[in-house]
Amino acid sequence: MNESIVRLTQTRDLPDGELLALISGPEWEADLAQAADAQRRKWYGTDVYVRGLIEFTNYCKNDCYYCGIRKSNGKADRYRLTEEQILGCCRQGWTLGFRTFVLQGGEDPWYTDERICRIVRAIKGEFPACAVTLSIGEKERESYAAYRAAGADRYLLRHETASDDHYQMLHPASLSLKHRKNCLFTLKELGYQVGSGFMVGSPGQRPEHLLADLRFLQRLQPAMIGIGPYITHPDTPFHDRPSGDLHLTLRMVSILRLMFPYALLPATTALGTIHPRGRELGLQAGANVVMPNLSPVGVREKYSLYENKICTGEEAAECRSCLESRVRLAGYEIVTARGDVKEDIHD
Ligand code: SAH
Repeated sequence: MNESIVRLTQTRDLPDGELLALISGPEWEADLAQAADAQRRKWYGTDVYVRGLIEFTNYCKNDCYYCGIRKSNGKADRYRLTEEQILGCCRQGWTLGFRTFVLQGGEDPWYTDERICRIVRAIKGEFPACAVTLSIGEKERESYAAYRAAGADRYLLRHETASDDHYQMLHPASLSLKHRKNCLFTLKELGYQVGSGFMVGSPGQRPEHLLADLRFLQRLQPAMIGIGPYITHPDTPFHDRPSGDLHLTLRMVSILRLMFPYALLPATTALGTIHPRGRELGLQAGANVVMPNLSPVGVREKYSLYENKICTGEEAAECRSCLESRVRLAGYEIVTARGDVKEDIHD
């Protein structure tokens, strides 16, 4: 076993140079995965938590250069789900054993704070034992506080990239990394279990940017870290930029498990999109969460963040059983539980 990996496992940290060598070195992938899998088993056994993802709107006021539902994509066929449709997704999900519902969408002003709070209250009212996660972008503190008071437990907001120069390459000038980072710290203060994360292989990304992502996460100490490869969408300014690399993404998952052994790390849909066994490989590299799609089949194609997204054709129940066997074949077990983050214990 590579000596840096041993030390990373023991101390959860390494000097910049050694981390960069692990990020950039394909030769360490198997060792990293082995060490990461040992850590995930120590903390979480073979348990895999499921999050039912409800993509409730693809309207967005932002214009992120990489994203297929950006405001300026005139080809996107826009939709919004009603409260009743969202509750319908939750009912189906609950029956299938899902105990977390993730409401994700573009930044859509139609869903005012009042509407979001109503939806959260309705879900928690009907399923008090579930966790509700919101993933609806950058808001002001008062809005986050209102959602929390309405019952929201968790919030996912990837920082996307922790370096200012790179952030500016990926986003229009109206968006700032500083604001996004502030949102994450505010969410923590308000008592949310916070998830952050980044894309791997986004245009202009260098290993130093990934190192900066790790350093930022060390400061934030999130409960969840979602990463996936950047995948090209044809109707964006980045239509001619190549997608991110499977192997680099897997190495990053393993490094994250070693640096944040307690964390919830999803094997993301994007990972499953760039490789037919991407999610299984993600689990074997240290991930412990899967996020099957609970959105109504009729809208799934429309929530097109990137090209060839998987699982757009199947009913929720099919998705659930397909995932169940994939997870089992990879050596793990889907469990019916809220799947809260484990309290960090330093050993
Ligand atoms: N509006 C919400 C949700 C964004 S969509 C927010 O601002 O947080 C969820 C995630 O999809 C994004 O955070 C981004 O990391 C990822 N994503 C968007 N476009 C992508 C692409 N082309 N390839 C891979 N991931 C992408």
